[in-house]
Parts: sequence; C-alpha cells; structure tokens
Amino acid sequence: MARCSVCGSPAVAHIRYQRRYLCERHLIEYVESKIRRSMSRYKMVRPGYRVLVPVSGGKDSATVLAVLSRLSRETGFEVIALHIDLGIGEYSVKSKEASMKAAGKLGVPLVIVSVKEITGYTIPELARKAKRPVCSVCGLVKRYLINLVAMEIDADAVALGHNADDLAVYSMKSFITQDLSNLPKLGPKTESIPGLAVGRIRPLYEVYEKESYLYALLTGTPFLHEECPNVDFNSMENRLKVHINSLEEEKPGVKITMLRNMAKRIKDYPKPKLPISKCKHCGLLSSGDECSFCRLTRRITGRPLGPKAREAVRSLTSSLQLAPRQDSAYKS
Ligand SMILES: [Zn+2]
Ligand SMILES: [Zn+2]
Repeated sequence: MARCSVCGSPAVAHIRYQRRYLCERHLIEYVESKIRRSMSRYKMVRPGYRVLVPVSGGKDSATVLAVLSRLSRETGFEVIALHIDLGIGEYSVKSKEASMKAAGKLGVPLVIVSVKEITGYTIPELARKAKRPVCSVCGLVKRYLINLVAMEIDADAVALGHNADDLAVYSMKSFITQDLSNLPKLGPKTESIPGLAVGRIRPLYEVYEKESYLYALLTGTPFLHEECPNVDFNSMENRLKVHINSLEEEKPGVKITMLRNMAKRIKDYPKPKLPISKCKHCGLLSSGDECSFCRLTRRITGRPLGPKAREAVRSLTSSLQLAPRQDSAYKS
C-alpha cells in the first residue's frame, strides 16, 4: 500500500506532478496551502474585503466556500455565499439542498435567488422561449445575477470555483478559436469596474479537479455528486478535456505550467473589443445601451427585468448581517 510521503500513514492521493503520495490529513493541508499561495501570489483578497462565493451545490464551489470560510478568519475578510435556483427540475432541488447544507455547516450566510421568482420562468423555459441553447441562457442569467448580488451587497470580489482542469480547457478553446481577447477573462483575477461590475477571483486556479473533489469529500463538506442534466459530453469543451487529460497523463503538471505562464502574460493578450457601458434599464455592466439580461427578458416578457431583479435582490439581501465597513479607502 502506498504511504504518505510526509508522515508514512496510508495514502489517499497520488500527486503525480510532485511525485508525492499524501494521506487524508496532508492532502487537506496541501490543497489549503496551494489555495493560500495562489491567493497571495495573485493578490486575490485583502483584509476587510467582502467576498461573494456563488455555490452551485457541486464540489468545486463547496471547496472554495470551505477554504475561504477558513481563510477568512485567518486573514480577516468576510464571506457571503450565493445560490441561484435555476429551476432545472430535481437537479436544482438537490443543488439547493447541498448548498444550504454546506453553508450551514460552515456557518456562512447564504443568499438564495430564484430565477423563476425573478423572471416568472425557469432556465429551461427561458431557453425555450428565447429559442437558444439552455447552457447559453443559463450562463448569461447566472453571470448577471451573480454580478447583481455582488453589486447589491457591495462585495469587493466574487470567488468562482473554476479549477485548473476547467481553466486549461477554456484557455485551449480560446487558443483554438483564436478568441484571444477572452484569455484575460480566464486569469486568476479580474478587476472590478466601479459602479458596474465586481471583479472575479479564482482560488482554485492551480488546484486540479481531483484535488478539489478529494478536499470537499475528506473535509465532509456537503456537495452534490450529480452533474447538470444538460451537460453535453460531445461539446468542444468536453472533447478537449479528454485530450488535455491524456497530455497531462504523459506530462504531469502541464496544465499548471500553462496556467502559470498565462497568468504572467495576461497583459500581452488583446483587450476585449466590446466597449464598457451602462445598461439604460438596470444600470449594470453592458456592452451597449441594453445589457444582455434586460434584452433577453424584454424579448420574452415584453419588458426588461433587470430593474425588477435589482429590487428583488435588494430586499433579499437587506436582512443580511454584513460586517460594518471599516476601511473604504482602497475602494473607489
Ligand atoms: Zn501524511
Ligand atoms: Zn440591464
């Protein structure tokens, strides 16, 4: 039986690119120290920050929530969790349950926003009405609501659960399609745009999917093992994943090397071409005078629902007991 390279106890994981075996306790420590290092290397948070963690119910966001709630006590920042109820049948019911359990166990305040309550429709219904693929409507609505909640609670950062495997795939896809201006958006950190959008951080930037899974499992953080029923295994992303995984198999560590080097070069990639402006309905980030959420909901319901969503989120978050703002000097 393989033994932990640190303490000699029975190993639960083989970290191939480091040629190490780790026991349960040392795997947990290893993942936490990796996240701590990435967060400081890429300057993700500062003391006094308010960080919004969107939780899907899956392993990656569970790991982010667990590690950040622990680090928040060490470093002195605040963590608020957000779950978006997408209305995708039984899957969404279970996702919401898992998110509530995880936030409850960790003692993190959780905001739950229901797409159906805000728009009158679930994600599959919105997609059908808009005659668009479910995943594209889902992505659009989630991005909008995450930013909206972050803006309403005056968050300094949104912590996303993308792991190194996801990011290697998204980046390769951007290389293949030569959508190079997408690359800076995939980095470990994007900056806030005052009054319009809250910047994003990716604490799992250098954490493999397997490590994130084991961390959630071994720390007993509740998560849903099921995947969304809309996952398309033949998508470009999922096909690429198979190929990049086989490369990683032959060259352990190649994904981390790629991501680290990309993070160093982010300034060299072209800037996104779309202009930054303000939606005339809801006042949030848009590339024209109407944001994509207001456009989508206007086409389906006859009126842009951004303002209604803002109102709903404001009342949902008004009962949150947020830490008083001590230092707002670094905020613009
Ligand atoms: Zn050990
Ligand atoms: Zn809008």
